[in-house]
Amino acid sequence: MSKIEKTNLEYEEKYTDMIDRLTEQLKTILPIFLEEFKDYIDPRRLEYLSDKKNVPNIIQFVDDGMGAWHYEGHIYFSKINNRICEKLKSQDEYGTQPNIKLIEPEDFINNKKDYIDYLRYWILKGLTVLDYCIDILPHEIMHLIGSSGGVIGEGSTEANTRRICQKYNIRCIPISHTKEVELVLSLENVFGIDVLTRSAFSRDFTILEREFNSLYGNQAFSREYGIVTQMYTRYQTSHLDDPIKHYQTYRKINYGSMLELLRGRREAKTQEVK
Ligand SMILES: [Zn+2]
Repeated sequence: MSKIEKTNLEYEEKYTDMIDRLTEQLKTILPIFLEEFKDYIDPRRLEYLSDKKNVPNIIQFVDDGMGAWHYEGHIYFSKINNRICEKLKSQDEYGTQPNIKLIEPEDFINNKKDYIDYLRYWILKGLTVLDYCIDILPHEIMHLIGSSGGVIGEGSTEANTRRICQKYNIRCIPISHTKEVELVLSLENVFGIDVLTRSAFSRDFTILEREFNSLYGNQAFSREYGIVTQMYTRYQTSHLDDPIKHYQTYRKINYGSMLELLRGRREAKTQEVK
């Protein structure tokens, strides 16, 4: 057997092992997510995911992409994560601070940490690629049960991930979608968690739009949502081959326009439409 064949075989065994470990974790925590969000989940999806025999095929590893994502009933982890992990392992500081903390418990829901901070933590703590996959699994479970993507969808998905993980002491790392979470927590402050969660699950922003416009003026929602979506989309498509550059672009996102409005620091434009 050639060296390359041997390495490939070792990786394949590793993936099978990781799929088993992640599927075990999924089996343990999925029922908690289904129970907690049953009022928001599409009934057919709720029935399908409640059936334990459907769980083993959900987790998959694939060659392309970055990080992890949900698509049509599967949670995909990119095999590229393994290459990133090998690179991080070669750093001198790898594993030198096994007890390091990334987030204090009181900052679990609302913090400014992001993936670049997490990469640093990954090196110092000496995480494995399986650790990373377990850390981000709860966010993908929220998508699996029906919480959507996009600026508001991702913010709500991650805010709800943090709340359920904190409530049930589920392992996760609350650093995904930092800026979208900040935006959604501000929206929740004004319109309530239920309106945001319902919008994220139904992909229907009608109620949010109506309430937003009644406070901030006719067309205010489509205008502000257009601005934040444009920023988010620009980041999403940038430097997909380079995680550091990708997340540096992320740090440049600024949702200030909508945030200032929500925090009452900017005048609503209600007069415009009289
Ligand atoms: Zn997501």
